[in-house]
Amino acid sequence: MLSIIIPAYNEEENIENTASVIGGIMKENGIECEILFVDDGSKDRTWEIIEKLAAENDSIRGLKFSRNFGKEGAVFAGLKYCRGECAAVIDCDLQHPPKLLVEMYNLWKQGYQVVEAVKASRGKESFLYKFFAQSFYGLMKSSSNIDMRGASDYKLMDRQVVDALNELPERITFYRALSSWVGFKTTKIEFNVAPRNAGSSKWSFKKLFKFALSNLTSFTNAPLHLVTVFGIIFLISAIATGIVQLVRFCGGESQDGILPIILFSSSLIMLSLGIIGYYLSKIYEEIKGRPRYLVSLDTLDKKNKRDKI
Ligand code: UDP
Ligand code: MG
Repeated sequence: MLSIIIPAYNEEENIENTASVIGGIMKENGIECEILFVDDGSKDRTWEIIEKLAAENDSIRGLKFSRNFGKEGAVFAGLKYCRGECAAVIDCDLQHPPKLLVEMYNLWKQGYQVVEAVKASRGKESFLYKFFAQSFYGLMKSSSNIDMRGASDYKLMDRQVVDALNELPERITFYRALSSWVGFKTTKIEFNVAPRNAGSSKWSFKKLFKFALSNLTSFTNAPLHLVTVFGIIFLISAIATGIVQLVRFCGGESQDGILPIILFSSSLIMLSLGIIGYYLSKIYEEIKGRPRYLVSLDTLDKKNKRDKI
């Protein structure tokens, strides 16, 4: 059975249509599936609709978080609660073409354990968004050697991969990169990002920036080494200016020009402390060991619950 995990946050306009489109495609192609909606603390009628669909259709299930925990939490909750021999994660707004699921499923049948759908084109995005996405992926590639250009959350994974992801102990996760990091027999297929079916994107610029920063630091320690590099640069320049000043002093010239150097070096020291502080806060978050999400309601039946949790 294929589990289709769909994170949903304020998607009342999309749930019903998405469930029927995906359900229809699976039926047409004779693929046994369960559709698992993870309601990430929506404030609209999303959960009501999920419950209604789950009551009508045995292959539709839902989980509801106690509040909005973010898409990462929703994806990982889906991976934990799904029951299939393979599982796919797909957006609720049909920006990930659901027809591709059939191809991905067939590749899984051929023995691939991770089938990644990569973006051939990035769809409609602003210049600023594209610029930040490219810089982020460039940094990820150079620091952790994971090539994520075109990567999306649209993936199909074998049970073995799902279990491996579920066993990762960390709390600050980055699903899109971790699903490559775990390895296994992987293949890629391309898709074009469709426009959103209904509603608007749930990401604000601030949310995306924080997400990128958190993901980068969870995969690389390079910024911490930057602090050491700053230190070395300043040691060398301090020695050089020291010598120059000494020569000038001996020549009877007055000493000046030192203030900009002090200002520059102290700002770098503060920047470095900021970088260290950021990592420290991440360690603090991890060490608290709080759950990534809290489930408040679900439509999973008692038997499945006993089996899975
Ligand atoms: N989503 C979520 N929690 C959030 C934000 C988004 O579960 O806090 C879900 C959303 O319902 C959708 C998917 O993540 O199914 C992708 O979100 P969106 O379409 O807003 O992102 P974009 O396509 O603009 O990157
Ligand atoms: Mg979208």
